[in-house]
Amino acid sequence: MTYLDHAATTPMRQSAIDAWVEASGALNPNGQYAAGRQARSVLDSARETVAELLGCEPIEVIFTASGTESDNIALQGLYAASESNRIIVPAAEHSAVRDVAGMLAGRGAQVVDLPVDGAARVCDLSPLDTPAALATCMYANNEVGSIQPIAEITQRAAAVGTPVHVDAVQAVGKLPINFHELQATTLAASAHKFGGPRGTGLLLAQRTPAPKPVYFGGGQERGIRPGTVNVAGAAGLAAALQESLREHEREAARLARLRDKLRTFITAHIDDVVVNTTEPALPTHLHVSFLGTDGDSLIMLLDRAGVAVSTGSACAAGVNRVSHVLEAMGADNVRARGALRFSLGYTTTEDDIDAVCQQLPEIIETARKVSEL
Ligand code: PLP
Repeated sequence: MTYLDHAATTPMRQSAIDAWVEASGALNPNGQYAAGRQARSVLDSARETVAELLGCEPIEVIFTASGTESDNIALQGLYAASESNRIIVPAAEHSAVRDVAGMLAGRGAQVVDLPVDGAARVCDLSPLDTPAALATCMYANNEVGSIQPIAEITQRAAAVGTPVHVDAVQAVGKLPINFHELQATTLAASAHKFGGPRGTGLLLAQRTPAPKPVYFGGGQERGIRPGTVNVAGAAGLAAALQESLREHEREAARLARLRDKLRTFITAHIDDVVVNTTEPALPTHLHVSFLGTDGDSLIMLLDRAGVAVSTGSACAAGVNRVSHVLEAMGADNVRARGALRFSLGYTTTEDDIDAVCQQLPEIIETARKVSEL
């Protein structure tokens, strides 16, 4: 199989599997006996590794079960910690953020849009000049890969005392990120995006303002994420993060070259395409609209040819809706319908790209014929 859906999930790195297996026997890290202390020391070491790699203190590292959970805890918790009901949310956020904002709107929050431009990049920061309970922004867009002006956003929000949550799920492990330098209040990441185990997430949370608990029943993870901690997951996450950041510069250059090769091939050999990914963007993402096709048919045709890709947009029961990201970018229906995301990762090789290039022109031709029927 040619796997080009790394932005959805990437295979576990061997270093993460080894760390996970080694820690899989760990018992309750809160146990007051030798086995508990042993588990605690594995957890502490994972926490320290993460803190060192992401530029924060160990106390600011909270292990969660997913990026979605981290986003939920941050947004709901920061909202609960504030007296304001104003929340600032860009138009192209992941559903893990958008749907929480929608839920908060149902409870009386005033959701203020942060407009994005034709590259899905936040382009008007003026709503940040009015204080709010929180502002949120993704570090890099999951569909088209565009990198957001995060430092400008955190600075502008800090000037009026608004806490900022950064959904860095697509960026952590691919770009060097320093939580303290970023001046974010909270930051979400997810292990399975950088080669750690699925079902393990991270929330970095400053001491103050801290999200109020949205779960109850235990004091673990500063009471912000109560429940017995997944020690093996934390160990696997830390190992994957370490490996991905150790090689990120080399990998970024290698993957950008492969991604550019694919883009050059597509624009040279296939008519009527719009490249939706524009720099600055993650080196792993290439999002393209093949006009006159339907993304779902393309996925099926490519799957039959042994190529795994996706549109990158939220899907309900396996059926893709038109992407809200492309809508926010101003794409018309034809461009939105024919959109496909190729996302590369550490296992991607030149052969993978060659295999796609070999199959793609014929598949697009077939998809166009099918959509004319
Ligand atoms: N935020 C962004 C930007 C994402 O891309 C994703 C996953 O695709 C998530 C949040 C959710 O992460 P998880 O799959 O760990 O719940």
